[in-house]
Amino acid sequence: MTDLSAETVIVTGASRGLGASMARRLTREGANVVLSARDEAALDDVAADVADAPGETLVAPADVTDEAAVEALVDATVDAFGAPTGLVNNAGVGMLSLHDELRDTVTVDADDWRLILEVNLTGAFLCAKHAVPHMVAAGRGNVINVSSGLGRRAAAGWGPYVASKWGLEGFSRTLADEVEADGVNVNCLDPGGRAATGFWDHLPEAERDGVLPPDVMDDAITLLLAQGPDGVTRESLPAEEWEERLDA
Ligand code: NAP
Repeated sequence: MTDLSAETVIVTGASRGLGASMARRLTREGANVVLSARDEAALDDVAADVADAPGETLVAPADVTDEAAVEALVDATVDAFGAPTGLVNNAGVGMLSLHDELRDTVTVDADDWRLILEVNLTGAFLCAKHAVPHMVAAGRGNVINVSSGLGRRAAAGWGPYVASKWGLEGFSRTLADEVEADGVNVNCLDPGGRAATGFWDHLPEAERDGVLPPDVMDDAITLLLAQGPDGVTRESLPAEEWEERLDA
């Protein structure tokens, strides 16, 4: 087991799917974990799952697109546990979170485009904007942005999602350059394929073969959050490759 008892980690999108699984695992590794998403009842259920874990939880609902709500989330973290040492920007929306079919770019509703960019990219920016200064002040911290294979390649029908994840990759590297001297690592992590979550709710059953379990990123996120000030930074890898890189 990795000892994360010195860590205070904010996990967005912690109400279900990959985020809920990572948040539960981090609590079991001893971290104090701030569970955030919009659905408070679902966050309460996740907290109840790990009530006996060594780490503590704080349920702090927030819409990541709302800067005042994000600011309040970081303030609540500081009040409960002290400065955050980890931020997992996991909240995300895909094309199939909104519709039961993919859409070529010229048929995408502008409001859907804006929503996907707002949640996946602006949301990560806002959380980093308010959490990272605490890490810089402490001289250590880890920001992990949950990306996708579609942060490295393109796929027809996924226009705004691809744009959001490529944007997230560029944003991550820029932030990494800005805070490396302050001891803060900024990296991207993705499942390495489709993971069985509500993200694929609208995908026909016949196309769901080969999906990865929802805990696919749990080992990698644990290793990433255990990194000290001189850790790997400015990198983007799927979960399995992070495990090989950091478990050596
Ligand atoms: P999911 O089951 O649909 O969960 C998405 C999470 O994001 C939920 O907790 C949701 O909570 C939260 N969320 C959505 N909009 C939000 C908002 N405006 N403010 C705050 N939270 C919001 O999806 P998932 O598969 O776990 O995906 C998690 C991350 O992994 C995403 O970034 C996704 O792009 C990435 N990813 C997933 C896969 C995959 O195959 N599943 C593959 C590659 C990358 P509320 O609705 O309660 O707000």
